[in-house]
Amino acid sequence: MKEVILIKYGELTTKKDNRNFFINTLRKNILLKLSSFKVDIKDDYYRMFIYAKEEDIDSVVEILSTIFGIHEIDICYMSEDVNIDNIKKIALDIIKEDNIKTFKVETNRSDKSYPIKSMDVSRDVGAYILKNTDLKVDVHTPNTLLHIEIRHEGVYIYKDGIKGLGGYPVSTLGRALLMLSGGIDSPVAGYLTIKRGVELYYLYFESRPHTSIEARNKVIELARKLEKYNSNGKLMVVNFTKIQETIYKNLDNEYLITIMRRMMYRIAEQIARKNKCLAIVNGESVGQVASQTLSSILAVNDVTNYPILRPLCSFDKLDIIEISKKIDTYETSILPYEDCCTIFVPKHPVINPNLKHILEEESKCDFDSLIEEAVNNIEIINLKETQEYKDLL
Ligand code: ATP
Ligand code: MG
Repeated sequence: MKEVILIKYGELTTKKDNRNFFINTLRKNILLKLSSFKVDIKDDYYRMFIYAKEEDIDSVVEILSTIFGIHEIDICYMSEDVNIDNIKKIALDIIKEDNIKTFKVETNRSDKSYPIKSMDVSRDVGAYILKNTDLKVDVHTPNTLLHIEIRHEGVYIYKDGIKGLGGYPVSTLGRALLMLSGGIDSPVAGYLTIKRGVELYYLYFESRPHTSIEARNKVIELARKLEKYNSNGKLMVVNFTKIQETIYKNLDNEYLITIMRRMMYRIAEQIARKNKCLAIVNGESVGQVASQTLSSILAVNDVTNYPILRPLCSFDKLDIIEISKKIDTYETSILPYEDCCTIFVPKHPVINPNLKHILEEESKCDFDSLIEEAVNNIEIINLKETQEYKDLL
């Protein structure tokens, strides 16, 4: 008897025509994340079996629980001996592991040549467990549901396992560009986007020397944490100093944030196009701050036709914080280093920006060439070559 990991696909089951594409991508993503282990994968239309060394099983399951596209992870006991007495013995051993009161057995025969019908296997195994324990059968809400699957290569016996992350395998829905600041929101927005099968690249606007190297390292650390779910992300850093200083020195200060964000969107669109990113993602949440009123979003969004995804648009801050703790970005996000959005902040940022006034203000300076310069001087950080910034925390 050996332990095998069984994976169920979840929402993928609703895909019909391109289901193979989703399963193939999931397999590729799993192999990539498990590249430091010796594993063997067998899959079909409904599930995947992962064979790993016994001592690696716990670590492998831990990694699998960070991969999107997996609905459930079960540890199965597999035996080539499909004799009913052997099945009964394994089933009893498994069920005895838990401190439970009720159980139910469910059998599935993909090997239809097996001489005992599924219902009868369940009944026989159930009777054997009843005879050898104090447990009772509960067909509606059992404490443990024991699955028996008889396949041509052997029998697989398992209990309901760990819930996977759900969603779609990363990259099946293409790539997007996440505007990643050092705050709490944007990493969560990124996580929720990856969940829908979208691979991410990251874009960070920095304003050295007004922002510090620690602020940059914090963003690198956040990107690294998102890489646990994403796979081949790269972080692009825009030198935003000149643009910010130009706005600060020359334009109506009440509009500083609005115009700064318009410049961010214009740059993000160009970077997204160059990098085959099909959308821009950010952490805006309606009403959270002055720059996130609907009229501010309207004024800022006016610079682009590119799709802007705002996965957090209707989230409460507390719900966002809860996710950020779950994905382990919270502690990094709350580090105090200032972001370019928090420097030069006006006392009274405009809440209902006037587009005509914005355009008049912007016409005072040559932003086209500043944007071109910023786009041409992007710095690319290969996240695989970065290290954890322990001293930040
Ligand atoms: P966050 O917590 O993600 O920083 P926030 O609540 O501070 O968001 P804003 O500062 O208005 O809100 O920023 C809204 C969104 O714009 C952010 O979620 C992020 O996606 C993007 N953004 C802001 N500043 C930067 C930056 N310096 N680099 C990249 N993206 C940024
Ligand atoms: Mg912020």
